Amino acid sequence: QMQAKTLALSEAMTRACDYYRRQLKTAEGAKKYLQGRGLSGEIAAKFGLGYAPEGWDNLRQEFPDYDAPALAESGLVIDKEGEDGGRHKRYDRFRERVMFPIRNTKGQVIGFGGRVMGVGEPKYLNSPETPLFQKGYELYGLFEARQAIRDAGYVLVTEGYMDVVALAQMGFPQSVATLGTACTPTHVQKLLRQTDQVIFSFDGDSAGRRAARRALDACMPLVDDSKTIKFLFLPTEHDPDSYIREFGAEAFQKEVQDAMPLSQFLLKLCSQDNDLTTLEGRAHTQFEAKSALQAMQPSSLRLQIVRGLAQLTQTTPMEIENMFELAQPVAR
Ligand code: ATP
Ligand code: MN
Ligand code: MN
Ligand code: MN
Repeated sequence: QMQAKTLALSEAMTRACDYYRRQLKTAEGAKKYLQGRGLSGEIAAKFGLGYAPEGWDNLRQEFPDYDAPALAESGLVIDKEGEDGGRHKRYDRFRERVMFPIRNTKGQVIGFGGRVMGVGEPKYLNSPETPLFQKGYELYGLFEARQAIRDAGYVLVTEGYMDVVALAQMGFPQSVATLGTACTPTHVQKLLRQTDQVIFSFDGDSAGRRAARRALDACMPLVDDSKTIKFLFLPTEHDPDSYIREFGAEAFQKEVQDAMPLSQFLLKLCSQDNDLTTLEGRAHTQFEAKSALQAMQPSSLRLQIVRGLAQLTQTTPMEIENMFELAQPVAR
Protein backbone atom coordinates (compact mmCIF):
# COMPACT_ATOMS: atom_id res chain seq x y z
CA GLN A 1 0.00 0.00 0.00
CA MET A 2 2.83 2.34 0.93
CA GLN A 3 4.44 1.56 -2.40
CA ALA A 4 1.32 2.37 -4.36
CA LYS A 5 1.08 5.65 -2.50
CA THR A 6 4.64 6.77 -3.18
CA LEU A 7 4.20 5.74 -6.79
CA ALA A 8 1.19 8.03 -7.10
CA LEU A 9 3.16 10.78 -5.40
CA SER A 10 6.04 10.37 -7.77
CA GLU A 11 3.68 10.46 -10.73
CA ALA A 12 2.16 13.71 -9.47
CA MET A 13 5.61 15.28 -9.12
CA THR A 14 6.64 14.23 -12.61
CA ARG A 15 3.43 15.56 -14.07
CA ALA A 16 3.86 18.90 -12.28
CA CYS A 17 7.49 19.09 -13.41
CA ASP A 18 6.47 18.60 -17.04
CA TYR A 19 3.81 21.25 -16.63
CA TYR A 20 6.22 23.83 -15.16
CA ARG A 21 8.75 23.13 -17.90
CA ARG A 22 6.16 23.69 -20.59
CA GLN A 23 5.13 26.96 -18.95
CA LEU A 24 8.71 28.24 -19.00
CA LYS A 25 8.79 27.94 -22.80
CA THR A 26 6.28 30.76 -23.14
CA ALA A 27 7.07 32.73 -19.98
CA GLU A 28 9.11 35.62 -21.34
CA GLY A 29 9.66 37.21 -17.93
CA ALA A 30 10.99 34.01 -16.42
CA LYS A 31 13.23 33.31 -19.40
CA LYS A 32 14.59 36.85 -19.14
CA TYR A 33 15.19 36.33 -15.45
CA LEU A 34 17.22 33.16 -16.06
CA GLN A 35 19.13 34.80 -18.91
CA GLY A 36 19.82 37.74 -16.63
CA ARG A 37 21.39 35.30 -14.21
CA GLY A 38 23.61 34.02 -16.97
CA LEU A 39 21.92 30.69 -17.59
CA SER A 40 21.64 29.15 -21.05
CA GLY A 41 18.60 27.29 -22.31
CA GLU A 42 20.73 24.18 -22.41
CA ILE A 43 21.60 24.27 -18.73
CA ALA A 44 17.98 25.11 -17.84
CA ALA A 45 16.94 22.00 -19.74
CA LYS A 46 19.59 19.86 -18.05
CA PHE A 47 18.20 20.77 -14.63
CA GLY A 48 14.60 20.69 -15.81
CA LEU A 49 13.95 24.27 -14.76
CA GLY A 50 10.40 25.45 -15.12
CA TYR A 51 7.98 28.21 -14.30
CA ALA A 52 4.88 28.27 -12.12
CA PRO A 53 2.70 31.03 -13.60
CA GLU A 54 0.54 33.55 -11.83
CA GLY A 55 -2.82 32.17 -10.72
CA TRP A 56 -4.27 30.16 -7.85
CA ASP A 57 -5.20 26.85 -9.43
CA ASN A 58 -3.25 26.41 -12.64
CA LEU A 59 -2.46 22.82 -11.75
CA ARG A 60 -6.15 22.06 -12.29
CA GLN A 61 -5.34 21.91 -16.03
CA GLU A 62 -2.87 19.14 -15.34
CA PHE A 63 -4.72 17.29 -12.57
CA PRO A 64 -8.37 16.51 -13.35
CA ASP A 65 -8.57 15.17 -9.77
CA TYR A 66 -7.26 18.48 -8.38
CA ASP A 67 -9.75 18.47 -5.51
CA ALA A 68 -9.23 14.85 -4.50
CA PRO A 69 -7.54 14.38 -1.10
CA ALA A 70 -4.51 12.56 -2.55
CA LEU A 71 -2.92 15.62 -4.14
CA ALA A 72 -2.47 17.41 -0.81
CA GLU A 73 0.25 14.98 0.23
CA SER A 74 2.43 16.05 -2.70
CA GLY A 75 2.73 19.57 -1.31
CA LEU A 76 1.91 20.92 -4.76
CA VAL A 77 -1.30 22.35 -3.36
CA ILE A 78 -2.24 23.84 -0.02
CA ASP A 79 -5.54 23.30 1.74
CA LYS A 80 -6.85 26.27 3.60
CA GLU A 81 -9.77 26.31 5.96
CA GLY A 82 -12.58 28.29 4.24
CA GLU A 83 -14.24 31.18 6.06
CA ASP A 84 -17.66 29.70 5.33
CA GLY A 85 -17.32 27.13 8.07
CA GLY A 86 -14.96 24.24 7.51
CA ARG A 87 -15.01 24.03 3.74
CA HIS A 88 -11.51 23.61 2.39
CA LYS A 89 -10.14 25.83 -0.27
CA ARG A 90 -7.35 24.37 -2.24
CA TYR A 91 -4.73 26.42 -4.09
CA ASP A 92 -1.37 25.97 -5.83
CA ARG A 93 1.64 26.27 -3.55
CA PHE A 94 3.92 27.62 -6.26
CA ARG A 95 2.84 30.75 -8.10
CA GLU A 96 4.95 33.15 -10.15
CA ARG A 97 8.14 31.34 -9.37
CA VAL A 98 11.04 29.84 -11.30
CA MET A 99 10.92 26.16 -10.47
CA PHE A 100 13.88 23.93 -9.65
CA PRO A 101 12.86 20.26 -9.60
CA ILE A 102 14.65 18.21 -6.96
CA ARG A 103 15.42 14.67 -8.05
CA ASN A 104 16.48 11.66 -6.07
CA THR A 105 19.44 9.53 -7.19
CA LYS A 106 17.12 7.47 -9.39
CA GLY A 107 16.17 10.64 -11.22
CA GLN A 108 12.60 10.78 -9.95
CA VAL A 109 11.27 14.25 -9.16
CA ILE A 110 10.58 14.32 -5.43
CA GLY A 111 10.17 18.02 -4.69
CA PHE A 112 10.63 21.56 -5.91
CA GLY A 113 12.30 24.78 -4.96
CA GLY A 114 10.64 27.87 -6.35
CA ARG A 115 12.34 31.25 -6.58
CA VAL A 116 10.57 34.59 -6.82
CA MET A 117 11.82 36.70 -9.69
CA GLY A 118 13.22 39.82 -8.17
CA VAL A 119 12.33 40.72 -4.62
CA GLY A 120 9.67 38.95 -2.56
CA GLU A 121 9.28 36.77 0.46
CA PRO A 122 10.18 34.04 0.86
CA LYS A 123 12.94 34.21 -1.75
CA TYR A 124 12.80 30.43 -2.10
CA LEU A 125 9.76 28.34 -1.42
CA ASN A 126 10.43 24.64 -1.01
CA SER A 127 8.21 21.59 -1.15
CA PRO A 128 7.31 20.28 2.28
CA GLU A 129 8.68 16.93 3.35
CA THR A 130 6.71 13.98 2.03
CA PRO A 131 7.24 10.22 2.15
CA LEU A 132 9.33 10.75 -1.01
CA PHE A 133 11.26 13.82 0.08
CA GLN A 134 13.38 14.19 3.20
CA LYS A 135 15.55 17.28 3.31
CA GLY A 136 18.19 15.89 5.64
CA TYR A 137 18.76 13.10 3.15
CA GLU A 138 18.50 14.60 -0.32
CA LEU A 139 21.01 16.79 -2.08
CA TYR A 140 19.98 19.08 -4.90
CA GLY A 141 21.77 18.25 -8.15
CA LEU A 142 23.21 14.90 -7.09
CA PHE A 143 21.43 13.02 -9.86
CA GLU A 144 22.65 15.45 -12.51
CA ALA A 145 26.17 15.55 -11.03
CA ARG A 146 26.88 11.86 -10.56
CA GLN A 147 29.01 11.19 -13.62
CA ALA A 148 30.83 14.53 -13.27
CA ILE A 149 31.70 13.70 -9.65
CA ARG A 150 33.28 10.46 -10.83
CA ASP A 151 35.18 12.26 -13.60
CA ALA A 152 36.42 15.09 -11.37
CA GLY A 153 37.21 12.88 -8.41
CA TYR A 154 35.48 15.24 -6.02
CA VAL A 155 32.14 16.85 -5.24
CA LEU A 156 31.50 20.50 -4.48
CA VAL A 157 28.85 21.07 -1.82
CA THR A 158 27.11 24.45 -1.92
CA GLU A 159 24.13 26.05 -0.20
CA GLY A 160 21.88 26.95 -3.08
CA TYR A 161 20.09 25.88 -6.23
CA MET A 162 21.59 28.74 -8.19
CA ASP A 163 25.09 27.85 -7.06
CA VAL A 164 24.71 24.35 -8.48
CA VAL A 165 23.24 25.46 -11.79
CA ALA A 166 25.70 28.33 -12.27
CA LEU A 167 28.70 26.17 -11.38
CA ALA A 168 27.52 23.50 -13.82
CA GLN A 169 27.21 26.07 -16.56
CA MET A 170 30.67 27.45 -15.83
CA GLY A 171 32.38 24.07 -16.01
CA PHE A 172 31.86 22.62 -12.53
CA PRO A 173 29.05 20.10 -13.03
CA GLN A 174 30.33 18.14 -10.00
CA SER A 175 28.25 20.38 -7.69
CA VAL A 176 25.37 19.72 -5.32
CA ALA A 177 23.53 21.74 -2.67
CA THR A 178 22.03 21.05 0.69
CA LEU A 179 18.39 22.06 0.56
CA GLY A 180 18.34 25.15 2.73
CA THR A 181 19.14 22.94 5.73
CA ALA A 182 22.36 22.23 7.55
CA CYS A 183 24.61 19.57 6.10
CA THR A 184 23.84 16.37 8.02
CA PRO A 185 25.96 13.25 8.61
CA THR A 186 23.49 11.50 6.30
CA HIS A 187 24.37 13.96 3.52
CA VAL A 188 28.07 13.40 4.06
CA GLN A 189 27.63 9.64 4.11
CA LYS A 190 25.71 9.79 0.88
CA LEU A 191 28.45 11.87 -0.76
CA LEU A 192 31.27 9.68 0.49
CA ARG A 193 29.58 6.75 -1.19
CA GLN A 194 30.08 8.52 -4.55
CA THR A 195 33.57 9.96 -4.09
CA ASP A 196 36.42 10.12 -1.62
CA GLN A 197 36.84 13.88 -1.82
CA VAL A 198 34.27 16.39 -0.63
CA ILE A 199 34.83 20.13 -0.93
CA PHE A 200 32.41 22.40 0.88
CA SER A 201 31.85 25.79 -0.70
CA PHE A 202 29.31 27.73 1.28
CA ASP A 203 28.48 31.42 1.10
CA GLY A 204 31.09 33.82 2.41
CA ASP A 205 28.61 35.45 4.80
CA SER A 206 28.22 34.58 8.48
CA ALA A 207 25.45 32.06 7.75
CA GLY A 208 27.76 30.29 5.32
CA ARG A 209 30.56 30.21 7.86
CA ARG A 210 28.22 28.75 10.44
CA ALA A 211 27.15 26.17 7.88
CA ALA A 212 30.81 25.21 7.34
CA ARG A 213 31.28 24.64 11.08
CA ARG A 214 28.24 22.42 11.16
CA ALA A 215 29.41 20.52 8.11
CA LEU A 216 32.71 19.94 9.89
CA ASP A 217 30.84 18.43 12.84
CA ALA A 218 28.85 16.23 10.47
CA CYS A 219 32.10 14.98 8.89
CA MET A 220 34.09 14.15 12.02
CA PRO A 221 32.62 10.67 12.68
CA LEU A 222 32.92 9.76 8.99
CA VAL A 223 36.42 10.79 7.93
CA ASP A 224 39.13 8.23 7.60
CA ASP A 225 42.49 8.11 5.89
CA SER A 226 41.03 7.27 2.50
CA LYS A 227 38.85 10.39 2.47
CA THR A 228 39.70 14.02 1.86
CA ILE A 229 37.45 16.78 3.11
CA LYS A 230 38.13 20.42 2.36
CA PHE A 231 36.56 23.81 2.88
CA LEU A 232 36.61 26.59 0.34
CA PHE A 233 36.04 30.02 1.84
CA LEU A 234 34.81 32.79 -0.42
CA PRO A 235 34.96 36.53 0.21
CA THR A 236 32.20 37.69 2.57
CA GLU A 237 29.94 39.16 -0.08
CA HIS A 238 30.08 36.16 -2.43
CA ASP A 239 28.56 32.77 -2.96
CA PRO A 240 29.86 30.31 -5.59
CA ASP A 241 27.41 31.63 -8.18
CA SER A 242 28.29 35.30 -7.74
CA TYR A 243 32.00 34.53 -7.40
CA ILE A 244 32.33 32.52 -10.58
CA ARG A 245 30.31 35.11 -12.51
CA GLU A 246 32.48 37.93 -11.28
CA PHE A 247 35.93 36.34 -11.35
CA GLY A 248 35.51 33.47 -13.80
CA ALA A 249 36.06 29.73 -13.86
CA GLU A 250 39.84 29.92 -13.61
CA ALA A 251 39.72 31.95 -10.41
CA PHE A 252 37.22 29.51 -8.96
CA GLN A 253 39.42 26.59 -9.97
CA LYS A 254 42.23 28.21 -8.03
CA GLU A 255 39.97 28.50 -4.99
CA VAL A 256 39.20 24.80 -5.33
CA GLN A 257 42.91 24.01 -5.47
CA ASP A 258 43.60 26.16 -2.42
CA ALA A 259 40.69 24.84 -0.34
CA MET A 260 41.52 24.33 3.32
CA PRO A 261 41.91 20.73 4.51
CA LEU A 262 39.62 19.64 7.35
CA SER A 263 42.51 19.32 9.80
CA GLN A 264 43.57 22.91 9.25
CA PHE A 265 40.02 24.20 9.52
CA LEU A 266 39.48 22.32 12.75
CA LEU A 267 42.65 23.62 14.38
CA LYS A 268 41.90 27.12 13.16
CA LEU A 269 38.39 27.05 14.62
CA CYS A 270 39.67 25.80 17.96
CA SER A 271 42.43 28.32 18.32
CA GLN A 272 41.23 31.45 16.56
CA ASP A 273 39.49 33.03 19.54
CA ASN A 274 42.20 32.08 22.02
CA ASP A 275 45.47 33.73 22.97
CA LEU A 276 47.98 30.93 22.55
CA THR A 277 50.58 32.84 24.54
CA THR A 278 48.56 32.26 27.70
CA LEU A 279 48.01 28.99 29.56
CA GLU A 280 44.27 29.57 29.58
CA GLY A 281 44.24 30.25 25.84
CA ARG A 282 46.04 26.97 25.18
CA ALA A 283 43.79 25.08 27.59
CA HIS A 284 40.69 26.48 25.94
CA THR A 285 42.00 25.51 22.52
CA GLN A 286 42.26 21.91 23.70
CA PHE A 287 38.79 22.16 25.20
CA GLU A 288 37.38 23.37 21.87
CA ALA A 289 38.97 20.46 19.99
CA LYS A 290 37.81 17.80 22.37
CA SER A 291 34.38 16.82 21.09
CA ALA A 292 35.49 16.80 17.44
CA LEU A 293 38.45 14.54 18.18
CA GLN A 294 36.38 12.27 20.36
CA ALA A 295 33.89 11.89 17.51
CA MET A 296 36.65 10.75 15.15
CA GLN A 297 37.47 7.11 14.44
CA PRO A 298 41.05 6.09 15.18
CA SER A 299 43.10 6.95 12.08
CA SER A 300 46.40 8.42 11.01
CA LEU A 301 44.61 11.66 10.31
CA ARG A 302 43.34 11.80 13.86
CA LEU A 303 46.86 11.16 15.11
CA GLN A 304 48.17 14.00 12.96
CA ILE A 305 45.53 16.40 14.20
CA VAL A 306 46.29 15.54 17.82
CA ARG A 307 49.95 16.16 17.07
CA GLY A 308 49.12 19.52 15.53
CA LEU A 309 47.01 20.42 18.55
CA ALA A 310 49.83 19.40 20.87
CA GLN A 311 52.20 21.69 19.01
CA LEU A 312 49.80 24.61 19.17
CA THR A 313 49.15 24.13 22.85
CA GLN A 314 52.68 23.19 23.95
CA THR A 315 51.78 19.72 25.19
CA THR A 316 52.35 16.24 23.81
CA PRO A 317 49.90 14.01 21.92
CA MET A 318 50.08 11.56 24.83
CA GLU A 319 49.10 14.22 27.34
CA ILE A 320 46.17 15.22 25.17
CA GLU A 321 44.92 11.64 24.81
CA ASN A 322 45.31 11.05 28.55
CA MET A 323 43.43 14.21 29.31
CA PHE A 324 40.58 13.26 26.96
CA GLU A 325 40.37 9.84 28.56
CA LEU A 326 40.41 11.16 32.12
CA ALA A 327 37.75 13.68 31.23
CA GLN A 328 35.41 11.01 29.92
CA PRO A 329 32.35 10.36 32.05
CA VAL A 330 32.81 7.48 34.48
CA ALA A 331 31.05 4.36 33.18
CA ARG A 332 28.18 3.24 35.32
P1 ATP B 1 19.96 33.49 -5.12
O1 ATP B 1 21.32 33.51 -5.70
O2 ATP B 1 18.91 33.08 -6.09
O3 ATP B 1 19.62 34.76 -4.43
P2 ATP B 1 20.95 31.80 -3.02
O4 ATP B 1 21.03 30.33 -3.22
O5 ATP B 1 22.22 32.57 -3.09
O6 ATP B 1 19.88 32.34 -4.06
P3 ATP B 1 20.74 32.17 -0.20
O7 ATP B 1 20.04 33.28 0.47
O8 ATP B 1 22.22 32.17 -0.16
O9 ATP B 1 20.20 32.12 -1.67
O10 ATP B 1 20.18 30.83 0.41
C1 ATP B 1 20.80 29.57 0.17
C2 ATP B 1 19.75 28.49 0.01
O11 ATP B 1 18.94 28.43 1.17
C3 ATP B 1 18.76 28.71 -1.12
O12 ATP B 1 19.22 28.23 -2.36
C4 ATP B 1 17.56 27.94 -0.66
O13 ATP B 1 17.71 26.55 -0.89
C5 ATP B 1 17.60 28.18 0.81
N1 ATP B 1 16.75 29.32 1.17
C6 ATP B 1 17.08 30.61 1.10
N2 ATP B 1 16.07 31.40 1.50
C7 ATP B 1 15.07 30.57 1.84
C8 ATP B 1 13.76 30.75 2.34
N3 ATP B 1 13.26 31.93 2.55
N4 ATP B 1 13.02 29.63 2.58
C9 ATP B 1 13.53 28.41 2.36
N5 ATP B 1 14.75 28.18 1.89
C10 ATP B 1 15.52 29.23 1.62
MN1 MN C 1 23.45 33.02 1.92
MN1 MN D 1 23.21 33.44 -4.76
MN1 MN E 1 23.81 32.29 -1.61
